[in-house]
Amino acid sequence: MAIDRFGRNIHYLRISLTDHCNLRCIYCMPEDQTFRPNADLLQDDEILRLVRLFASLGFDKIRLTGGEPTVRANVVELVRAIAHTPGIRSLSMTTNGVLLSKLARPLKEAGLQRVNVSIDTLDPEKFRRLTRWGKLEQVWEGILAAEAAGLTPIKLNGVVVRGYNEEDVVDLAALTLDRPWQMRFIEMMPFAGATEIQTRQVVTAAEIQQKIESEFGPLEASGEYDGEARIYRIRGAKGQIGFISSVTVPFCAACTRARLTADGVLRMCLLREKELDLLSPMRNGASDEELRQIILDGVWNKPWGHGLEEGIIPLNRVMNQIGG
Ligand code: SAM
Ligand code: SF4
Repeated sequence: MAIDRFGRNIHYLRISLTDHCNLRCIYCMPEDQTFRPNADLLQDDEILRLVRLFASLGFDKIRLTGGEPTVRANVVELVRAIAHTPGIRSLSMTTNGVLLSKLARPLKEAGLQRVNVSIDTLDPEKFRRLTRWGKLEQVWEGILAAEAAGLTPIKLNGVVVRGYNEEDVVDLAALTLDRPWQMRFIEMMPFAGATEIQTRQVVTAAEIQQKIESEFGPLEASGEYDGEARIYRIRGAKGQIGFISSVTVPFCAACTRARLTADGVLRMCLLREKELDLLSPMRNGASDEELRQIILDGVWNKPWGHGLEEGIIPLNRVMNQIGG
């Protein structure tokens, strides 16, 4: 078991498979973002070695993310190998959904259990503005393909940006009326690359909830968390609504996660810059025991609390280089 100095059992690893992406969401990265060469990223055998090491330390839950995880070459085979690693009980992916209409079935067959698909609006023109060139219908087809393939329960992630989509939360919430989906609204967080938008155009979870309630009436609180999301339901709805208020109400006490970036560093808090390099020691011949020790040191020193209120913004990476 990997326990930190606050007594938290850290057992959930988010692995960024690549920093590359086929979209350029305005809250995630600049339009002219350059990506790392493939040789600088963890190779398949390196990812699998680290997954085995993390699993041996008690990590049992993995989410694949990015950048866009589905653009990684060989993603289906990688999923298969991770899914078959002893100790891994839960394997899911966060994706923009663009390639899901063709990949949902092979990914499910390879052992992926669930997907979270990012969708910030149901208006094709606003979707294009938010993603810089994305086509909403591709993502919608991807969501339906994921549901048909059994990558369920379907969870949708929406980041809300003032001036872009704050009025769209009502239509997104309405998706849950007759579908067993979970629509999760995420407060925009600040990182390098898009800090201007991220700090000035945040819409708080409280404001999002208010907008939804002014249309549907008071939401029913389940009193539960699903990961970092506080879960609610519109009265009589089949699905659920989640609020992820990382900026205004951090959930550090319940945080059990670590992040492995595509270039092989361990980051123990999304909103703190501190990182531990695993790639260089691995390429310099470190033993499994030495790598395990680096991971355990990182876990032990996992931070508590972000510094956004004091104006401390993590600027050493753009969001897609961390893995949301
Ligand atoms: N490309 C995939 C996707 O978009 O789902 C996976 C990577 S993306 C970085 C993971 C999640 O982070 C997405 O749901 C995305 O909306 C969210 N995200 C990106 N930038 C963010 C920001 N500045 N604040 C909050 N969430 C953000
Ligand atoms: Fe790509 Fe996901 Fe970032 Fe959008 S949020 S640019 S889809 S990595």
